[in-house]
Amino acid sequence: MRAVQYRTIGGKPEVVEVEKPAPGPGQVLLEVTAAGICHSDDFIMGLPEDQYVYGLPLTLGHEGAGRVVELGPGAEGIEVGTNVVVYGPWGCGTCHLCAQGKENYCPRAGELGINPPGLGAPGALAEYMVVDSPRHLVPIGDLDPVKTVPLTDAGLTPYHAIKRSLPKLRAGSTAVVIGTGGLGHLAIQILRALSPARVIALDVTDEKLELATKVGAHDVVLSDAAAAGKVRGLTRGRGADLVLDFVGAQPTIDTAMAVAAVESDVTIVGISSKPAAAQVGFFRQAYETSVTVPYWGARGELIELVELAHQGVFDVHTETFAMADAPKAYERLHEGTLTGRAVVVPSL
Ligand code: NAD
Ligand code: ZN
Ligand code: ZN
Repeated sequence: MRAVQYRTIGGKPEVVEVEKPAPGPGQVLLEVTAAGICHSDDFIMGLPEDQYVYGLPLTLGHEGAGRVVELGPGAEGIEVGTNVVVYGPWGCGTCHLCAQGKENYCPRAGELGINPPGLGAPGALAEYMVVDSPRHLVPIGDLDPVKTVPLTDAGLTPYHAIKRSLPKLRAGSTAVVIGTGGLGHLAIQILRALSPARVIALDVTDEKLELATKVGAHDVVLSDAAAAGKVRGLTRGRGADLVLDFVGAQPTIDTAMAVAAVESDVTIVGISSKPAAAQVGFFRQAYETSVTVPYWGARGELIELVELAHQGVFDVHTETFAMADAPKAYERLHEGTLTGRAVVVPSL
């Protein structure tokens, strides 16, 4: 079968021929219908050898959708033929955090050698993929896999980040979204669906901001050194109750901290290739600002998102690519010219 692999440190992703996998005990084989491309792939492929921990060759793709085609010995709870999306941050399934569905924070995954698909285990950018347990599959019924697959990360990560701050998003509150790409354009929609907050979106070009407006941002601001002042102006000086930074570079973290209101949350989701950090201390930021760095989301939260998708809440913007063009999709991601999420469709 064909797969998109990262094969050498510093190399480019390549379309290669690999052996079709077989599901082992308890596992499930999917025929992949759609696989999303995330900026985190670009981040890991930019890591130097001493920091790269995902194994080589690595079949990429941590956003997967597919049709169940085979169950391994003892695998139960899902039928062959079911259309599903894959919950990616696999955990042990039995520790206290996993018991709450927070497998993204499983403290035992490392020692047990459990890795997410596309981030250690073979990923979704292939004609077939093995999922380690039926528990990591969410049926999607008649939803379009291309429009649904981004929910597994580009949706789930902001959904988790927003849910934890919902008590702060009262009537009259403001949420700022920095970076309106794959994750950011869904964050805007999740904010609009879940809260009465006014949403202010920041990005670096007018085209990106056009998408932000289209998917529900009330106001848009170009992300530059003047942005924090403009956001303060739009909020009559009060600032934002939640700031979601989907870039995570020093200038955007600085903007995030500068626009944070008293008792706000600053949530840094983006992972910068250069070291970046929020400075916290007296007279640096508004009182009782909490700063946090979340990773992905919980299993139940993906089920909630799929339910929201069935209600027609999301307008997921995607650019589709054939498997042969996946390397081109990665180039476009790297240069920042994608709109919404790039999704690879193996059958194209
Ligand atoms: P993306 O490339 O689709 O979107 C990034 C957006 O940020 C683009 O629209 C780009 O124009 C914009 N941008 C770049 N520089 C900017 C600046 N200075 N100010 C404002 N906007 C700017 O990326 P994505 O796939 O949505 O991922 C976003 C980030 O989130 C990445 O860093 C990725 O690694 C990270 N991520 C983190 C998690 C997690 O669990 N914490 C999960 C998924 C992705
Ligand atoms: Zn990702
Ligand atoms: Zn666990």
